[in-house]
Amino acid sequence: MEDKSSASQSLDPRRRERINRYKKIIVITNFTILAIAVIGCIILLIVVSKLNNRINDLEEASRQEISKEKESGNIEPKEDSEQTSTAETIDLQNRAIQYDESQYEKVCYLTFDDGPSIYTEQILDILDEYGIKATFFVNGKTDDDSIKRYQEIVKRDSTLAMHSYSHVFSQVYSSLDEFVQDTEKLRKLLKDKVGIDTNIYRFPGGSSTTTTDKIEEYIQYLDENGYIYFDWNVSSGDATKEKLTVDEIYNNVISGTMQHSNAVVLMHDSAKRDTTVEALPMIIQKLTQEGYVFLPITTSSTVVHHNVN
Ligand code: ZN
Repeated sequence: MEDKSSASQSLDPRRRERINRYKKIIVITNFTILAIAVIGCIILLIVVSKLNNRINDLEEASRQEISKEKESGNIEPKEDSEQTSTAETIDLQNRAIQYDESQYEKVCYLTFDDGPSIYTEQILDILDEYGIKATFFVNGKTDDDSIKRYQEIVKRDSTLAMHSYSHVFSQVYSSLDEFVQDTEKLRKLLKDKVGIDTNIYRFPGGSSTTTTDKIEEYIQYLDENGYIYFDWNVSSGDATKEKLTVDEIYNNVISGTMQHSNAVVLMHDSAKRDTTVEALPMIIQKLTQEGYVFLPITTSSTVVHHNVN
């Protein structure tokens, strides 16, 4: 008995030592795994951030190259672009790429009126995310932010078009003289500040507006002076006094667009219209699924006019 107990007592410290050793090994192993994981994460983060920088550099370089080519007026059709692989030319007046819409079965022209606004960049970011362009029918604004936003629209290859300088119906439509002055003032502003001499126009309220009985005079002026005006055949309804919900805007645009193989969609780029911006990604996704190709309006796009022609 005594022998046994002394034997077990003499074994205990050894066993304890072994257990301690195992414990140490387990702790060291865990620590090593953790350390490797942490180091791995740090290395990955560094690599990702370097790749990000590289992508930004490349994007900036290609943007600069495109704008240089545009300035010299000799941009070639982009060979690597799927959506616009053929029949692209440059409209020198508007400096916009022309697209041959007849290549596509279903075309959707997203148009944003009344900008630029605090949402212009956000809209452009969403368009970029999906690799598409749209059309901005802008008003006259001279603050630095607005000028930057006009320039950004052009930089990102969406179409910068006119929607009257003041957008005050009682001024714009008060007489042919006023209408001409307002139109030329906006055209000059865009020419001076952005370098774009655009001849694409949308009437405030559309050509079917009932706020003037002289619309035919104004249309005649535009026709005779080389302007092309566009109305819309799909309305998002986002200009109502009471703000529409994201779902309402989405449903209006989708159900309206599905009725046309050449849809021109009216939306607004305005500080009050945040639900339009929110609905935009869903609209783009759904219409892409339905086979629509998104193009910016150019002088070669099929015009959509309301009841007066
Ligand atoms: Zn408007």
